[in-house]
Order: sequence, then C-alpha cells, then structure tokens
Amino acid sequence: MLSDNQFLRYGRQMLMPGWGEGGQRQLAQKSVAIIGLGGLGVPALANLAGSGIGRLLLVDGDSLSLSNLHRQWIYRASDVGQPKVQLARRWALSLNPDIRVEAFAQMADELVLETLLPEVDLVLDCTDNLASRHLINAACVRRRKALISAAAIGWQGQLQAILPQGPCFACFCPTDQGATPQGCSEAGVAAPVVSAIGSLQSALALKHLLGETLETDQLYRFDGQSFHWSQFTLAPNPDCSLCGGHHESDH
Ligand SMILES: [Zn+2]
Repeated sequence: MLSDNQFLRYGRQMLMPGWGEGGQRQLAQKSVAIIGLGGLGVPALANLAGSGIGRLLLVDGDSLSLSNLHRQWIYRASDVGQPKVQLARRWALSLNPDIRVEAFAQMADELVLETLLPEVDLVLDCTDNLASRHLINAACVRRRKALISAAAIGWQGQLQAILPQGPCFACFCPTDQGATPQGCSEAGVAAPVVSAIGSLQSALALKHLLGETLETDQLYRFDGQSFHWSQFTLAPNPDCSLCGGHHESDH
C-alpha cells in the first residue's frame, strides 16, 4: 500500500499508462547501481531517486572540482573538495527520504562490482572512460545483469541497453582496440548534451524496471551540432572475447 504522501509524490508518473500503483510498488522493490556520479550520473540519480527506486547504490571515487559544476548540477560551489558520492547520497535523500541510498567512495573495480552486482536489478554505467566501461560490461556479462551504458563528449552523446540476450559492449568495442578516446578533460563536454543523455539512461532504466521490453541491439546517438539523432543496429559478435556471441536466444 502506498501512503497518502507517496500518492502525492509519485502521482504524476503513476497516471501514465503502464505505471499505476502497481508499477510504483514494483519500483520500490528495485535496487539500482549508478557507477559514476558525474555529468551522466547526476541527472540519472535525480530521476531515479525522484521516481522512488527503493535502493540506490552509488559508486564514485572522485572529489568535487570547480570544473564539474557547469554540468553536475546537484553539487554546489561550497562542496568543492568533498567526495562526490557522499554529496550525491545526501542530495538524493534530501530529495526523497523514502528511499535507501548507499555510497561507495571508490572507483569501480572487480571487487566492488562482484560485491554490488548480486544486490542489484540493474546497473547504470555513467563513467567517463573506456577502461571502466569494459570492466563494468565484463562484470555484468558474467553476472547476467542488465546494463544501461552511455557516453558523452563535446556535443556528442550515445546510449544503449545491454541485456543478457543481446550483444555486449565488447561485441562492438573490442577490449584490445588501440588508442583510448579523449575524455571530457581534453575534448570538453556540453552540459545540456551530457545531462540529456544521463537523463535518457534513467528513462531506459525505468522502462526496464517497469517490465517493458527494451531493444537489446540498438545504439542511440545524438549529435548536438547538427541536432540529429541516429540509431544503429548492433549484432552479437561471435568472436567477442567476453560473451563469444553466446546468448540466451541461442539455447
Ligand atoms: Zn560480447
């Protein structure tokens, strides 16, 4: 049963077809890991905390810097120097005291992923580097966890749902792929683009948690310069070093 306050708090989303009180109660039972509390993780956290996901597990090892503030809008100038994950936890609980939020003040590594993954229904990769993306993808493939992966740089952003029955991140971005792409600190990043992409990650997350079927082979890309969206179909790669193209649909 939802309380009167919960009816008020979540009323506008519960009005939507396919959501309702049942969907809201379902979200309260879910646990989601958000890895990276930067430009992608901040809007994703705001939407998921606001929507009433029962338990959020936050992972980030960075401290807040002044250069984060133009796009990471839950933080304040007076917070510079403090661990982001603790600031994010406090902010989320001040937005929605109904939920549980746990903070892990460290970068994602195999150990923390092995600890967290059995606890969660879904993982959001909101990190800003290829090495972390591969690490998180590998852990999710091993544990057969749903993953919503995203990236943004300059005016470009992209996102995709990676589910056990579809291609994994390494299927189309091999781990031995040469040069590491530039990060935000070299190439810059437009605040509205990274915020939009992080927000859409949470949209895919909510749809998945409400039981909607997500497309497992689609990569969505936004170019903020031309203002065009494009969509690519990805195929499982039989030579993938991680999943080898073997998926549920194969057996
Ligand atoms: Zn793969």
